[in-house]
Amino acid sequence: MTGPYEWNPMPHQTSVTCIECDGLASFEFAEVLRIEKKEDVPYFQDSPLFDYQFVQGGIHGNWHAAFYFHGLHRRSLEAVSDLPAGYSPHDWDHSQYLYRSHGLDLGTLSCRKCGLVLKHKLSWPTDAYYQADIRGETLWAFNRESLIALRNYVAATDRKKLRNGPWSGFLLKVPTNFLRRNVRSKALKQIDRLLATT
Ligand SMILES: [Zn+2]
Repeated sequence: MTGPYEWNPMPHQTSVTCIECDGLASFEFAEVLRIEKKEDVPYFQDSPLFDYQFVQGGIHGNWHAAFYFHGLHRRSLEAVSDLPAGYSPHDWDHSQYLYRSHGLDLGTLSCRKCGLVLKHKLSWPTDAYYQADIRGETLWAFNRESLIALRNYVAATDRKKLRNGPWSGFLLKVPTNFLRRNVRSKALKQIDRLLATT
């Protein structure tokens, strides 16, 4: 459950452990847009709402990137009216799909408990709030909802039926180790413990 291919399709928001108070915090992926015209770069470099980065290498070569960190700014992107021609505040909306559309790990960590709000580079599943060590392997879920789906999946006798829900992509990748009869009850106990605390 720790391989990069397995965690790549992640929801736009996940539950993480707060780096300040160890409480339940939320992480929301930033959205990034390619700046096509060089003359537009200074706008994004100077804007307090965007983060500019020159991204080198990768399959797309070098490119100018404009990041927007959802949840970081008091002023909403919606209110911005001076974007360079060809851009709309909606360009930085999350995709309509459940999962994030890019492979970058940057986003906003926010904690209701201690009030911390900051940019964060996600390290998964290390940062996962919902995680448990079961016989040396880490069992994790993205958030409470996916943990409940995971619980039902582990407990089910007929798992095929549960593979069509919104968390099917996630459930299909649950290592079979956790589903074995002799490990299952241990996994369920740990999941219930996590559910009871939040
Ligand atoms: Zn906190």
